[in-house]
Amino acid sequence: MPTAADRRSGPPTDEPTSTTRYPDEVLDEIAELAEECSICYQCGTCTSACPTARDLYRGPRRLVRLLLAGEIDALFAGDDLWRCSECGACTDVCRMEIDVASVLARLRALERVYGRQRCPERAAAEAAARRLARRPRIENTAFAAAMAAHGYVPRDVVGAAEAGMKIVRTRLPGGKRATAAVPPTRADRARAPGTAARPEGEGVTLPFYAGCSLPQDGALHALVHEVAAGFGVRLDEATDAGCCGHPSRGAVPAQFQADGRVWTACPACDDGLTKEGVDAAPLWDALVARARREGFALRARATSFVPYVGCLVDRDAALAALADAADLAGVEMRVAYPSLHNACCGALGGMYRGATKGSTRLLRFAAESGAPIVTPCSLCRDNVRSAARQMRLHVPTYFWPEFFRAAERPAEETSHA
Ligand code: SF4
Ligand code: SF4
Repeated sequence: MPTAADRRSGPPTDEPTSTTRYPDEVLDEIAELAEECSICYQCGTCTSACPTARDLYRGPRRLVRLLLAGEIDALFAGDDLWRCSECGACTDVCRMEIDVASVLARLRALERVYGRQRCPERAAAEAAARRLARRPRIENTAFAAAMAAHGYVPRDVVGAAEAGMKIVRTRLPGGKRATAAVPPTRADRARAPGTAARPEGEGVTLPFYAGCSLPQDGALHALVHEVAAGFGVRLDEATDAGCCGHPSRGAVPAQFQADGRVWTACPACDDGLTKEGVDAAPLWDALVARARREGFALRARATSFVPYVGCLVDRDAALAALADAADLAGVEMRVAYPSLHNACCGALGGMYRGATKGSTRLLRFAAESGAPIVTPCSLCRDNVRSAARQMRLHVPTYFWPEFFRAAERPAEETSHA
């Protein structure tokens, strides 16, 4: 079996599996990565833990095997490297303590320069990286134009048109935009007739990072502030914050720094910021914890739901927070085993590639359960909605604040509080 180093003088005649000649810097990096993975004993635990594995042709175990065998052409030939969502589950479970996710990220960086793979995820990462090299944020219409210029059009034309209309509506004069709603004080509540948001305690202010995507949908952005205000939380938004860097897949780092913790509405932002050393945490978990601490209920849009937490979050924690929200709202959270709740929805490539195996199985489960899907990620919501349209299934899918909010109490009860 040839090693990467063997290929400096061309492939051996008895094993002509990788025929491309690569520069020394590629061969050196491959040799270094192979050394890091040399203790891999091909147990497959990484592939079992990978939430994207059903959609991968090879999966992390086989990618490591190709690396150890020096099969650079085969490593670069498939789109598995780009369909990996960087969730880190493979690294977490590897008994040999190999940082598999980081190895794949370094292979992607090589493929970016020396490979020729054509796939939506790679094209999306390239479009995002080009944009972020010049501007602080991704802008969805420019992103779509860049994808179209490289021959990628959305499979879900309806979803793409809806996303475009949201941007237009947000930009129109009078379009709905977020305002940092200030939660009422006790004095405000005493004055205000009618119904009021949950009455216990005074409001708090949390530093908030909205990311690139949310501000392009003014109505949804405003809803996040409004729902947080119902919990007695004012979101102090860093309006000039740049992109978290995540869509560029490592090519452009986060352009945002903070001294203390910031709260986000997007798991990709959590991931991108955390990689740059920012202490980021999900806003939804904070809202549920506050409701639990202060002893007030939530209300929900339906009597049951199927959770979908995506692949980038701390999945156990995200599912636990959704279960807590369900408990506070008195609704049922329907889960399937083995879990369908964290497969990758396709991320930035989702609208271009179409339904993933993971989203297909999740939607079928939700349809059979007769329950909507609830997710803490707006991109996951849009991708799952696209997949539902493709599958012709009527399964409503909601972003967390579209489904949960703090319970209101009647005016009479409020005024006696
Ligand atoms: S879990 Fe670790 S040892 Fe097992 S196949 Fe994956 S990389 Fe190799
Ligand atoms: S980082 Fe996540 S998606 Fe990528 S191979 Fe590892 S487990 Fe799979």
